[in-house]
Amino acid sequence: MNDSVHAATASLIARLVRPEVRSLTAYAVAHAEGMIKLDAMENPYPLPVPVAARLAQALARVPVNRYPDGAADDAKLALRRHLKIPQGHDLLLGNGSDELIQLIASTLARPGATMLVPEPSFVMYRLSALNAGLTFAGVALKEDFSLDVRAMLDAVEREQPALIFIAYPNNPTGNLFAATDVEAILRAAPGLVVVDEAYYAFADASFLSRVGEFPNLLVLRTLSKVGMAGIRLGYAVAAPEWIAELNKLRAPYNVNALTQAGVGALLADAGWIDEQAAVIRAQRGRLEVAMAKWPKVRVYRTQTNFVLARFTDATRIFEGLKAKRILVKNLDGWHPLLRGCLRITVGTPEENDALLSALAELNPDS
Ligand code: PMP
Repeated sequence: MNDSVHAATASLIARLVRPEVRSLTAYAVAHAEGMIKLDAMENPYPLPVPVAARLAQALARVPVNRYPDGAADDAKLALRRHLKIPQGHDLLLGNGSDELIQLIASTLARPGATMLVPEPSFVMYRLSALNAGLTFAGVALKEDFSLDVRAMLDAVEREQPALIFIAYPNNPTGNLFAATDVEAILRAAPGLVVVDEAYYAFADASFLSRVGEFPNLLVLRTLSKVGMAGIRLGYAVAAPEWIAELNKLRAPYNVNALTQAGVGALLADAGWIDEQAAVIRAQRGRLEVAMAKWPKVRVYRTQTNFVLARFTDATRIFEGLKAKRILVKNLDGWHPLLRGCLRITVGTPEENDALLSALAELNPDS
């Protein structure tokens, strides 16, 4: 492209692209070749060999010349069986739960409608509000990252939000809000409350069995944190009436045929998922105990596959780890409550050994 075409493109963009989109920066995924990757809440384990073999067989049979099953019935059946989803609830599948967050926001984006979210929380909620044209209202968590229920209920009263997102457990703080606090919000909310259980496998509580109790409850989950981030499969569980409405804006073939075929094979015998999650939980406990030994590090207990810790000099530690080929997430600057915080995904025992010895060399107490 020559200079005049570049200039013309820039002027078209300035005129046509929504200003709020122009002022964004695209979600950056860090390059991690050759690094110990503890930045993205992935499960560090590969598939067990028999599961990988089953997957390979299932994928080889997929007629990729054809569009996938638009309703993804077999994949839904596999998920239903695996999750023991009670009768009376329906499922909606997405290309990751990210897509479903977007779909829910778009479906409820009547003119003037508001999305309410406790903050800090998962950044895609805010982005989806912007994308859908919803007004975004954030309510700060308390210093200890618990829900400020009083402030949430005041905001519910004031904003009358069409939609509330509650990550349960929360990302990036990792804690599980009190169920009674979430119930209070469900009862007071005039709109839909999405309880996002992306980290359910590492937590001690869930709202999944309670979908029938509240007409305004939708539970969102994903396979991403339990060893299958690559297949991009998220799912929403709610009353059939909600699912029917959301389904209208879904792109017809949003879950590709390889993922649909894969999920049956991956979940056919899903003991491996719980086994890997149990090891990750145990390793999380080990990291939390080991890191709490540095007096200047404040470790927050989490119910996720990551640990959260506050350092007096988070950026030095983050850069020091990176220089030692260990990638974590630096949350310093994301939100005032996250000052000095690093989010560290739990790795394999060997990766965690490497992390702890790298931290010891960097000496967070210095
Ligand atoms: N919800 C929460 C709370 C998350 O932390 C994430 C991933 N970071 C997601 C949803 C999205 O997961 P995915 O699109 O991979 O299903």
